[in-house]
Amino acid sequence: MTRLEELISQAENIVIVGHTNPDGDCIGACLAVYNYIREQYAAKKVTVRLEPVPAKFAYLSGCDRICSVPSGRSRADLCICLDSADKERLGKFAVCLEKAAYSICIDHHVTNPGYARENIIAPHASSACEVLYECLDESRISKKTAECLYTGIIHDSGVFKYNSTTARTMEIAGKLMEKGIDFGAIIDDSFYRKTYRQSQIMGRALLESITFLDGKCVFSVIRRKDMEMYGVDKSDLDGIVEQLRLIDGVECAIFLYEVGNLTYKVSLRSKYIVDVSKVAAFFGGGGHVRAAGCTMTGDFHDVINNLSAHIEKLLDGNPEDEENPHD
Ligand code: 5GP
Ligand code: MN
Repeated sequence: MTRLEELISQAENIVIVGHTNPDGDCIGACLAVYNYIREQYAAKKVTVRLEPVPAKFAYLSGCDRICSVPSGRSRADLCICLDSADKERLGKFAVCLEKAAYSICIDHHVTNPGYARENIIAPHASSACEVLYECLDESRISKKTAECLYTGIIHDSGVFKYNSTTARTMEIAGKLMEKGIDFGAIIDDSFYRKTYRQSQIMGRALLESITFLDGKCVFSVIRRKDMEMYGVDKSDLDGIVEQLRLIDGVECAIFLYEVGNLTYKVSLRSKYIVDVSKVAAFFGGGGHVRAAGCTMTGDFHDVINNLSAHIEKLLDGNPEDEENPHD
């Protein structure tokens, strides 16, 4: 029995939490462990508490049972934290961790300080779902749980292409395929499929993007008035930064969207050289070497200037970085 299962079997009342603005990996991991507990430990009381999740994840079993309020007057015996690099990223759900009698964090962020009572952090893993898979009994993973895990892995690995993808990632994906999941539909429906409005806003962001530092960097910004005009919200902006990153010659892509007055959510991506987790961490955020984010305040020109000054220093690069794809 793995340590996670030991803790589950000792608890009666379990709460599962993830990070704010939950993405495919976070949602997949939370629902995977939720389904696993419901199937294997039917007597336990288990709740997933997360911010509202994008409609495209509705196919995941248990998605309609997610509770979006932190409350829960009863204190849980065990809080399972997934894919959140630090306690602050749990947002309003940090209270669930604070109140719980015991806690375990399962994550893959190198910056994770180990904020729960027990922490299983694998910084080289493609996704929190990959780390979680290793904590479950493979033979008891159902098709529903496999769908959740597979969703998380494809989202955080960019469908197996980011260099956090390893032979082990592919092995696990293979094991999950053997559970009978419709992997093609999962990839298309949750990763590539776009509504007309999502396509329009991406088109707008690409059209208005600006390259700088000799074409090695590109940025684009979407303001609240643009989002209102196209009738989209932040969850409709997925994939834009990745499309910017793909531009020929670009090493580092920056995508900003306005979340409040003079406040921008920043997404950073790089190809080979710039460690964007360092850039994001400098501005109070975090993430991974090739994908990171933060929130910044000020006029957007100042935000871009501050970011570009920082990126420029890292662009000279350390050739060793290129040889160490799993950093
Ligand atoms: P995205 O650009 O897709 O929002 O985020 C990319 C990566 O950066 C993800 O792994 C995410 O967890 C991390 N990230 C994004 N925003 C923040 C932030 O504000 N703080 C921290 N610590 N990590 C972030
Ligand atoms: Mn993740």
